[in-house]
Amino acid sequence: MALCEEADEGISTAEPAGVTMASEADGYVCLGGRTVVLSQLREHADEYASSFTRAKAEVGHAQCLCRTPALRLVIRCSRAGRYHVAGWPGEGEHHEADCPFYKLPPGLSGRRDAYSVDAIREGETGVSIRFDTALARSLTGAPRTRAPGEQREGRARRTVGLLGLLHWLWEESQLTAWHPRWRRRNWWICHARLLEQAEGCFINQAPAAEVLHIVPPFRPASPEQSATAFEVFKNRLGRHGLKEHRRLILGEIKARTSTKYGVRYALAHQRVPLFASAALDERVRRSYRSAFAHAGTEQDARRVGLFLVDLSPRGNLTVVDMAAMLVTRLYIPADSSHEVAMGTALADSGRAFVKPLRYDGTAAVLPDFVLTDVTPHAYVEVYGIHGRESYERRKSTKQAYYQRQGATLIEWDVTQKMPDLVASRL
Ligand SMILES: [Zn+2]
Repeated sequence: MALCEEADEGISTAEPAGVTMASEADGYVCLGGRTVVLSQLREHADEYASSFTRAKAEVGHAQCLCRTPALRLVIRCSRAGRYHVAGWPGEGEHHEADCPFYKLPPGLSGRRDAYSVDAIREGETGVSIRFDTALARSLTGAPRTRAPGEQREGRARRTVGLLGLLHWLWEESQLTAWHPRWRRRNWWICHARLLEQAEGCFINQAPAAEVLHIVPPFRPASPEQSATAFEVFKNRLGRHGLKEHRRLILGEIKARTSTKYGVRYALAHQRVPLFASAALDERVRRSYRSAFAHAGTEQDARRVGLFLVDLSPRGNLTVVDMAAMLVTRLYIPADSSHEVAMGTALADSGRAFVKPLRYDGTAAVLPDFVLTDVTPHAYVEVYGIHGRESYERRKSTKQAYYQRQGATLIEWDVTQKMPDLVASRL
């Protein structure tokens, strides 16, 4: 670990005991000369306000101590005056694989090719996302509050769609990554990391915390807390003044059941269900086939959904649109039930890995998984389809690409036994 210039006197650098972060990625940060445990800094940012101010004024940035020399971190201050640290744009790959600021090189994320610079802008106050759907609709005869819509600049989109937003939140919260040092990951941890990410983010210029409800984990000791958070969210929906508001809900899908008019989604940790029409349900199941396929439910898999919701005249939450993602039991995304099996096997074998994400339908050639505990990184490919020409062509393109790079490739043809994933680390 790199060292801060001054030893910290006031703050203990012992492992934090917080429930939410104790088993997840943690690290040490140098802030204005003080060494601070990252999770403490995130949970108690207000208590460190003077250190933030000093670091911003004197150094201009914070430092991550996972490596020597230490790596720069951006200090951001929200409009509400709350500080937080974020990875330095473009430097994620230089951090240690188990560092909370580690990211795959940009070429291994669909984000690079999917969007123009307008779609996701990283600035002083946070990250600004141009979401392709308006979250407020004018009720007057005046011009409607325009939705940015899907705009393109060449092949790149100038706006982010629902799936892109879900992938961005997941990737930036490092939920696409796994390291054996993290031991476990549950919704408590996902929620804490997603919330931290949303803190410094704006969606169509509104603070993400206002327009995006990340379902909080149910706390049996204080059930009213979750209920209140939900009421606050629900009260922002519907008509307010001359505008009608839609909002986003991010949560784990517990069950999808048919109703007389369509389907009902029950979310984990949330009592109130969401309703979708039969037409929307059909489209969603077509678009996110793997997330709703029966094979996925047989595996130890979960489903995460990002819902755009409206309030119905009867006060129900109606789904206007949604994106869904199949994830392993550790919430690592997977594109098929076979990938769920591979993601689970990699974690069980003690491997550190990252799942690259495609965002809004890019054609980028991305490996199924990247192993980050070997240098150079190794790649994992899962072959689940046979005989389809486009699939075979894509497979050959990938194999040739890895060969050119001299990278180790672990291949699993799902009709065969899974390869030994422990041995390949040696
Ligand atoms: Zn680091």
